[in-house]
Amino acid sequence: TDAQDVSKQKNVVELNALTKEFQDLVAVNDVTLSVKDGEILTLLGPSGCGKTTTLRMIAGFETPTKGEIRLTGDDVSETPPYKRDTGMVFQRYALFQHMTVADNIAFGLKMQGTPDSEIDSRVSEMLEMVKLSGLQGRYPAELSGGQQQRVALARSLIIEPSVLLLDEPLANLDKKLREEMRMEFLRLHEELDVTMVYVTHNQEEALMISDRMAVMSDGNLHQVGTPEEIYLNPNDEFVADFIGQATFLSGSVTDAGSIYTIELQMGGVIEVARSSIESPDETEVGSDVNVLFRPEKFHIEKHTGADIGRNQFTGHVEESTYLGDTIEYYVRAGNERIQVNQQSLTQAREIDDGDEVLISFDEDTPLVLPSRGQ
Ligand code: ATP
Repeated sequence: TDAQDVSKQKNVVELNALTKEFQDLVAVNDVTLSVKDGEILTLLGPSGCGKTTTLRMIAGFETPTKGEIRLTGDDVSETPPYKRDTGMVFQRYALFQHMTVADNIAFGLKMQGTPDSEIDSRVSEMLEMVKLSGLQGRYPAELSGGQQQRVALARSLIIEPSVLLLDEPLANLDKKLREEMRMEFLRLHEELDVTMVYVTHNQEEALMISDRMAVMSDGNLHQVGTPEEIYLNPNDEFVADFIGQATFLSGSVTDAGSIYTIELQMGGVIEVARSSIESPDETEVGSDVNVLFRPEKFHIEKHTGADIGRNQFTGHVEESTYLGDTIEYYVRAGNERIQVNQQSLTQAREIDDGDEVLISFDEDTPLVLPSRGQ
């Protein structure tokens, strides 16, 4: 589906039914995906889901078991890495320790036989671009982690690859520097308009830098979409749970019209708008479903003993955390633990741990996913 809305833009990377098996382990399973010109696409998923293997196949460091890889339209499945017109940035930078910053950056151009005078001017340009002017004579060991990563970036960008492949490039940096470098990536991306495939297991990072993200687990591609599409309309439970916070309540549909009535396993009945049903075709009376609630969509107040209305639960606060702009509550309701986030700026904190509370939600805020069993 993502091919339709951006079909005018040309694809720089195309993966067609790409599979990689290591002995009997399927590391990447039948992945079809395209990356458009000038786009930052992140490959996101938990450790071991196959993102690095996918990236390494694009670079040519791994050979696919099945499937096809196209770069700017050409089938490169048989092309060796150095002829693929890709740049790669690694988590551990992989700089040449015995070479200066300038020589590290110049390396790709030297290999291509670019004349020295041109190399000098392009290296200066790159040094300025990644804000390392003045450090060209240093060796990698004399640089901070952030500076080393800038050298690695400059080294891969100087050859003007048609796609830049980045494997957890910020994982070795501390939080503050990581945030700073993310902004640098976005700035460089804007200035150079280079297509990027960016591997990360960090959701926050992916949400921040992606034009689109591809969410993977166990070698499978679950969903590709903009951060907003993925957050608001996750295809399945894995994606919903991996991106953002969520509480799932299971139940079964007892009425399906413009409003769906769902009997919850924990007890009680809720009413949900039809627009909140992810797959209306699959969801009919008798269907088992999983209802996804985002914590910020709940309203929470002290339970004063008033009658419980439509789309309300009662429970007691088991745990709460004050986070400055929000308060995170975990509410025990029957067998379930429900997460509720409340904006804290508008009022003083008035709900304490142990309090009885009333949680309510609007009928169009949950997302109802078909239950696919365990
Ligand atoms: P991480 O974030 O931990 O790097 P990942 O999502 O990048 O994880 P991959 O490195 O692509 O995951 O690995 C996917 C699966 O393939 C893992 O189970 C891994 O152990 C396995 N794997 C990767 N490379 C090899 C190899 N050369 N030989 C055998 N198995 C491998």
